[in-house]
Amino acid sequence: MYTEVKNDAGKVIAIQTDEPGQQILDNPLVNKGTAFSQEERDTLGLNGRLPVQVETMQSQVRRVYRQFKEKGNDIERNVFLNLLHDTNTTLFFQFASQHIDEVLPIVYTPTVGDAVEKYSAEFRRPAGVYLSYQEREHMDGILAGFTNRQIDLIIVTDGEAVLGIGDWGIGGMDISIGKLMVYIICAGINPARVLPIQLDVGTNNQALLDDPMYLGSPHKRIAGEEYDAFIAQFVASVEKHFPNVYLHWEDFGRDHARSILEKYRPQLCTFNDDMQGTGIVATANVIASIEATKTAYGDHRVVMFGAGTAGCGIMDQILDAFVAGGLSKEDALSRFYIIDRQGLVVDDMENLPDFQQCYARKRSEVSAWDVKDSSNITLEEVVRNGKATILIGCSTVKGAFTPAIIRQMAANAEYPVIMPLSNPTSRSEAEPKDIIELTDGKGIIAAGSPFAPVDYKGKTYQISQGNNAFIFPGLGLGAIAVKATCVSDGMIRAASRTLSSFSPLHKGIGNPVLPPIHDALKVSGSVAVAVGKQAVAEGLSAIKAKEEDVEKLVALNQWEPLYIPVKR
Ligand code: NAD
Repeated sequence: MYTEVKNDAGKVIAIQTDEPGQQILDNPLVNKGTAFSQEERDTLGLNGRLPVQVETMQSQVRRVYRQFKEKGNDIERNVFLNLLHDTNTTLFFQFASQHIDEVLPIVYTPTVGDAVEKYSAEFRRPAGVYLSYQEREHMDGILAGFTNRQIDLIIVTDGEAVLGIGDWGIGGMDISIGKLMVYIICAGINPARVLPIQLDVGTNNQALLDDPMYLGSPHKRIAGEEYDAFIAQFVASVEKHFPNVYLHWEDFGRDHARSILEKYRPQLCTFNDDMQGTGIVATANVIASIEATKTAYGDHRVVMFGAGTAGCGIMDQILDAFVAGGLSKEDALSRFYIIDRQGLVVDDMENLPDFQQCYARKRSEVSAWDVKDSSNITLEEVVRNGKATILIGCSTVKGAFTPAIIRQMAANAEYPVIMPLSNPTSRSEAEPKDIIELTDGKGIIAAGSPFAPVDYKGKTYQISQGNNAFIFPGLGLGAIAVKATCVSDGMIRAASRTLSSFSPLHKGIGNPVLPPIHDALKVSGSVAVAVGKQAVAEGLSAIKAKEEDVEKLVALNQWEPLYIPVKR
């Protein structure tokens, strides 16, 4: 058994245990490897189970870094880091926080996409909870088995729409694990209090179904009422066993993502990063761009290319920001255009999904436009006729922002905002280098994947990755700290306002729109405090926290990757 020893402020300062030495070494949350002191080795029965040298954490970090650099490629680095995480969690997170720029792209996007695809082939050991449809009658008992520790945060996926790479079935587990690592690295969520869950509901990926090594349920995805009932059973079981948990939905298919969030948002403290996280970051970028260019909301027209889960989620929040910025909803909507496979979404199109409908333009509004085929108005035609000033891509269509479109953006606005957000890099709608060149360095860019800095006319432009890592960790921490009963629109607005205030654009155009990723911990702390305060102000704190307590509560919930004494 392991017991946390806390100080008067409630911080954990030591671990007390009666476990035998080998089991302590096998527990990744307690293991320190060669950094166990001689006194700990003597009292815990570790002598002879470790090399004789007692190391500091810093010398361990140096060795890890050397091993990390020696790996041949990123997927090997991903496997290596996951192994370290599963062996010595504290060392992994200390290493990650010191090398955040190099580690995030390995444990999260873009490398995690490769790990997801190779999940069954690279499988070493189980991690997290697997809830399969065929074993649904055992679900409650399985989750009950994880109630022996406090769980603050669950990430759940069904692996249907992983990043931009589609249906990877049970491989989605790696996304949940990677995302939890980001929560911990960027906000200091306690790794002992998180749980990744894979809902194994089958896969429609034929390559996986044909693969004899595939580890998930080898059948087509369940759908319709069967699927809805399975989700309802899952939510009921989570509410029963983890009543105050923050439930993060990850990489569900477009229709499921939206319907699940809409159904459960009022009753649970719940969040969908694809729909809400991306929107918060994109909105923060838009707010920062409008403020830094000293323009008004009414000066802008926004075009979204790819009106799926992320695209429409982003538009919903930008709409909210335009209204908060002083426009009526009607006026704001008159400046928004969404484009999907059938071209500009227009109100006379049949079978428009409900989440697209409010953005559909009236046919009469576009009938005078100069277009080739009015039944399929292209992106280029929308940007030109609609005089777009802000262009966002969530389509997974590589190169969709052609040079002609980017030039047109530059003609429409002095500082056009262009955000090719599709992941991974191979699906990006544009290369930042092209945007810089075609806008003569004036384009304000956020990309979905990491891109190298661009040198242009003697200046180096840092390219911001519209990285949700700036938002979901802090939002989660704020909600967890005050035990929020739901994630309200106000909390989301507080998060994007706070992130926008950190934009280096405020120091001058030409700077990146987002702060450097190694500032994520600082940004997350501020986002958490703003979100927690907003929850308190709206009466959404289950522990009835007071506004003046929020900073303390946030700090109390922040775990630091430092070794603490382990005692008998
Ligand atoms: P999705 O499948 O729900 O949406 C994609 C949309 O693009 C669909 O509506 C699809 O019909 C449309 N589309 C496809 N081809 C098109 C074409 N030729 N022309 C016009 N529209 C087309 O997927 P999603 O979850 O919304 O993700 C979309 C992309 O955004 C992915 O690459 C994802 O990785 C990326 N994304 C980025 C971030 C980020 O930057 N932080 C966050 C979430 C999602």
